[in-house]
Amino acid sequence: MGPVGETTVKPPPSFENLIGGQRRPARSGATLDSIDPSTGVVWATVPRSDETDVTDAVDAALEAFQERWRPLPALARAAHMRRLADVVRAHADELAEIETRDNGRIIVETTLFDLPACSEMLFYFAGAADKISGDTVQIGPASVNFTLREPIGVVGLIVPWNAPLTIAVAKLGAALAAGNTVVLKPAEQASCSLLRFGELLDEAGMPPGVVNVVAGLGEEAGDALVRDPRVGRISFTGSTETARVISERAAHTLKPLHFELGGKSANIVFADADLDAAAYGVTAMSVFTGNAGQTCIAGSRVLLHESIYDEMIERIAAHAADVRIGAPLDHSTTMGPIVSAEQLQRVQSYLALAPAEGADLLFGGRTGADLFPQGSPLAGGYYVEPTLFGAPHTDLRFCQEEIFGPVAAAIPFRDDAHALALANGTRYGLAAGVWTRDLARAHRFVRDLEAGAVWVNTYRKIHWAVPFGGVKESGYGRDSGWESVLENTRLKTSWIDLP
Ligand code: NDP
Repeated sequence: MGPVGETTVKPPPSFENLIGGQRRPARSGATLDSIDPSTGVVWATVPRSDETDVTDAVDAALEAFQERWRPLPALARAAHMRRLADVVRAHADELAEIETRDNGRIIVETTLFDLPACSEMLFYFAGAADKISGDTVQIGPASVNFTLREPIGVVGLIVPWNAPLTIAVAKLGAALAAGNTVVLKPAEQASCSLLRFGELLDEAGMPPGVVNVVAGLGEEAGDALVRDPRVGRISFTGSTETARVISERAAHTLKPLHFELGGKSANIVFADADLDAAAYGVTAMSVFTGNAGQTCIAGSRVLLHESIYDEMIERIAAHAADVRIGAPLDHSTTMGPIVSAEQLQRVQSYLALAPAEGADLLFGGRTGADLFPQGSPLAGGYYVEPTLFGAPHTDLRFCQEEIFGPVAAAIPFRDDAHALALANGTRYGLAAGVWTRDLARAHRFVRDLEAGAVWVNTYRKIHWAVPFGGVKESGYGRDSGWESVLENTRLKTSWIDLP
C-alpha cells in the first residue's frame, strides 16, 4: 500500500481483502471510497465484496479449521497468536495512523491506547488457549460423565467503524484461542486498518485461511456472512436496529449470536462526590472525547443532584472549553471529527430536535464549517463541538435515543430513588457511572443499575481481561475476559457406562 500520513495521497491507496492467505480485490472488481472525515476527501479505496467473496472466505476458513487450525496443539495456536501480537506491535504506528485517517479517532488515542491494547489482547488470549477445559460430573460408580469444550468452527465477526482494530482483535483473539477460524467484515466507513492488519497475517506466519478479512457493505457482505449455514456463530458490534435484522436473518440456521450494541448511559453525580473529578469524568472520560462521543458507552445522560446542578454545569462547561477540536493526526488535538457525512447529519438532527422538545442549549451546538476559519481544510470535515443541553426529564427522544456524537443531556434529580429511576428508564443497559464518596450508596447503585458495566468514581475504563457487554437492548454475550473465550466454544457431554 502507499504511504500514509501525507496531506494528499494520489492516487488513493487501494486495500484488498485477505482470503485464504491471498490478497484479493472483490471478484466483481467493485470498490468503495474511504473518506477522510477530517477533510471530507477520499483517501483510499476498499473492495466492495459480495456473496461470492464471502463464500470464498468461508470456504477458506472452513478448510483452515479442519486442516490446519483445529489439529494444532493449543500451545502451537498460542505461539501463532503471540507472533501476530509481535507483528502488530512492530507495525503499531502505521496501523494507528491508518485507523486515525480512516475514522477520525485521534492519533493520541489510537497510538497510546488502541494499538498497545491490540497486541496485549493477543497475548492475553494466547495465554487462554491451553486453559480451556471441561468438567467431570460424579453421578455414581456405574458411569463416567464429563464435558468437553470444543471449538465452534468458522466464526463470523462484524465490526463497526468507531474502533475497528480493538473491537475486531478482542473478538478475533477469543475466537482463535478457542480453536475457531474467522471471517471478519469491517464497516464500510473504516475498513482500511483491518485490511492492512490482514496483510500482516502473512508476515506473522499465520496459517492461510485462519483469519480472513472481507470488506464491503453490511447489506451485501455482512448479510452473506450471517446467512451462510457454515458460519457457526456471529459476533457483532453495532446498532440495536442492525442486530434485530441479523437476528431475523440468522434465525433459519439457529446459530448463536453475540451482540454488543448501543447505549444511552447515565453518569450520576451526587452532592457528596469529588466534583472536580466528576466534571472531568462526565466530559473528557465520557462523551467529549477523542472519539467525539462515538462510543457505545458514552455517558450521554448526565444526572446531577439538584443541589449541585448549577455548579456542575459551570465545571462541565469549563472542561468542555478546554477541548481542542481539530485534525485527528495532530497530536495536540483532543477531539476529532464524526466518522461520516451521514453520521454528522444524524447528530445535527438531534441538535435540532433537542430544543424542539423543550431542552435548553447550555453550551456548544456548532458543527462543520462554523467551527473553522474560512478556507481551512478542516471546514470540509465532519466536526461537532462539545454540546450540552439541559433537559427537564428523560422522556424526550433526545434523552432516549443514541446520538453517537459529543452531545449530552444534563438532567437534575431529587434523591437516590429518583436518580435510579431516571438511570434505568431507558431501553438500553450498557453502562453507567456513579460519582459519590458514600460506599454504601455506591454498592446499592452497582446492585440496582440495569447495566452491563457500572463504574464508580471513574468512567470508560475497559480492559481485555474484564468482560464487556450489555443487558436489555444493549445486547447479550461478552467481549473480553474468560467469558468471551467460553462463548466461542460449544459444550459436549459424554456419558460412558461402566458395566
Ligand atoms: P450498523 O450497526 O449498521 O453497522 C455495524 C456493522 O454492521 C457494520 O460493519 C455494518 O456494515 C454491518 N451491517 C449493517 N447491516 C448489516 C446486515 N444487514 N447484516 C450484517 N451486517 C450488517 O451501524 P451504523 O454504522 O449504520 O451506525 C448507525 C448507528 O449505530 C450509530 O449512529 C450508533 O448509534 C450505532 N452504532 C453503535 C456502535 C457500538 O459500538 N455499539 C458502533 C457503530 C454504530 P456497513 O457499515 O459496511 O454497512
